[in-house]
Amino acid sequence: LSVVIPVYNEGESLGELHGELADVARQQQYDLELVFVDDGSTDGSWAEIERLASQDPRVQGVRFRRNFGKAAALRAGFQAARGEVVFTLDADLQDDPHELPRFLEQMNTGLDVVSGWKQVRHDPWHKVGPSRVFNWLVGWLTGVRLHDHNCGFKCYRREIFDEIRLYGELHRFVPVLAAARGWRVGEIAVVG
Ligand code: UDP
Ligand code: MG
Repeated sequence: LSVVIPVYNEGESLGELHGELADVARQQQYDLELVFVDDGSTDGSWAEIERLASQDPRVQGVRFRRNFGKAAALRAGFQAARGEVVFTLDADLQDDPHELPRFLEQMNTGLDVVSGWKQVRHDPWHKVGPSRVFNWLVGWLTGVRLHDHNCGFKCYRREIFDEIRLYGELHRFVPVLAAARGWRVGEIAVVG
């Protein structure tokens, strides 16, 4: 199993995130690989990634010269990842690593992509409203009806990325691109 984490100025949260991931790996006895991709951070993120890597052989770091955006960061992470199954989660502690087993349960029902859905959102109405419209519109246009296309917390069979190349804003549409190529896509509600 691999976890790919795009990092843009998240130095403060990386230690805690690593601790939680290590916790889940221990509880579930996962053979876990952690790929932190520093997308040109200007804070102490890279020093923090190096510190984690020196303490934990499961940690790998990839560093960009400058900020290339989340899709590029994820793509570099998928290229570095060796697990058959790859999770992505945001570095800002808004995604709870303790959900990993539930993603895997869904994958084991025969899915190739499982997308997270923050069913209960802690965001103000001016963010929730447009997000509802966006999700409805994407679902209507593409036929891939997910509640939360934008959620950064997802789980993929890695082979998918032999066929899909991410750039620009495409990281939001992996389930759509994957479904169009015949991969099976599902979702689970996650705590947000
Ligand atoms: N991120 C990144 N490059 C960027 C912007 C963001 O790698 O140019 C990372 C960021 O560190 C976080 C994830 O992508 O781990 C999601 O970013 P953010 O929380 O800003 O997005 P939102 O949650 O609002 O979608
Ligand atoms: Mg976020």
